[in-house]
Amino acid sequence: MSELAVKAEKLDAADELAVLRERFVLDTVSDHATDAAGVYLDGNSLGALPVSVPGRVDDVVRRQWGELRIRSWEESGWWTAPERIGDRIAPLVGAAPGQIVVGDSTSVNVFKALVAAVRMAGAGRDEIVVDATTFPTDGYIAESAARMTGCTLRPVLPGEVPGVLSGRTAAVLLNHVDYRTGRLHDLPGLTAAVHEAGAVVVWDLCHSAGALPVGLDEHGVDLAVGCTYKYLNGGPGSPAYLYVRADLQDRFDSPLPGWNSHADPFGMRTAYEPGAGAVRGRVGTPDILSMLALEAALEVWDDVSVDAVRAKSLALTDFFLECVGEYVPEGRVASLTPVAHEERGSQVALRCEDAGDVMKALIERGVVGDFRHPDVLRFGFTPLYVGFADVERAARVLGEVVGKPA
Ligand SMILES: *Cc1c(COP(=O)(O)O)cnc(C)c1O
Repeated sequence: MSELAVKAEKLDAADELAVLRERFVLDTVSDHATDAAGVYLDGNSLGALPVSVPGRVDDVVRRQWGELRIRSWEESGWWTAPERIGDRIAPLVGAAPGQIVVGDSTSVNVFKALVAAVRMAGAGRDEIVVDATTFPTDGYIAESAARMTGCTLRPVLPGEVPGVLSGRTAAVLLNHVDYRTGRLHDLPGLTAAVHEAGAVVVWDLCHSAGALPVGLDEHGVDLAVGCTYKYLNGGPGSPAYLYVRADLQDRFDSPLPGWNSHADPFGMRTAYEPGAGAVRGRVGTPDILSMLALEAALEVWDDVSVDAVRAKSLALTDFFLECVGEYVPEGRVASLTPVAHEERGSQVALRCEDAGDVMKALIERGVVGDFRHPDVLRFGFTPLYVGFADVERAARVLGEVVGKPA
């Protein structure tokens, strides 16, 4: 056994979170060449299936829908699920209850949050600042939101945001972690800078929630959105969430004021009157099947500390970089992920000239990461179900794949 494989064994033996692996359905992909169990490093795209989900979905479909039918809106708690599940996500992002509502996609929530942010900022402010390196959907929506609200869109790198803020800035849309490079941005510092300028900040937590502490309440974040199918393991297309800080809820003027957000939804009134609290972020009838699958998936977090998850995540990415340094021939890959812990999310992105072919070969060998156009290999480390032996094996297989002459 190599020195690194021995080290991996020791790290796994000392890992208090290792038992959580049993809460997931794993090892269904294997290495065709050796038949060894697979390594799943794509939980930052689609989290693995928690064992608690299939039975719950079966019950929701057969009993709640099949037998109780319409009664389930009350008796099975369907109607209140968006706020109830929001409260379940809240501790994972450092929010007190009553501020998060689950529903719609991240894209739709970015729209709601950003337009509401501009409306909150008030007259005379006509600029939206957006992260120039953002996941594309946030950028597209920001462009449309700017057009609709009569604002100018200003794309800048997150580090340059403080320098462009002014009395004209209405809202700033930022990603907590860069989906491509895995860079973690300074949420407390940037939030303070936006507030200093009198503007409203919207954070996208897609690549941080469930991987590291966010501290929404602690840092005074105004609005935030995130998806639930990455580190929160809600399943393909599971609904996203919207956070509106408690003291801003009365001023949250939704651009999509559907009947579910009405103060009296079953009053069927002609005039719109927004409900109080997180409910204001709702739009139409929630996607109950996905929503309740997510609720079951969140049970894996019941006794888990986000700080412990963060510590393991950093240990996993540190160890991966160490193993890559050892196993991958010099010059074949270059890490795009910051070395400093305070600037690193829970993934490692490696630039590699033939990344597309390399990722195909890795998946063939049971090591599943993903490829981002044009030359990035992305490996996500989900501390709930990835161990150190997985990390060592992934780096070793990567070394074998890229070491082969083309
Ligand atoms: C994954 C991700 C999304 C996904 O948006 P959907 O509407 O759920 O498809 C949006 N923004 C960021 C930053 C993401 O990482």
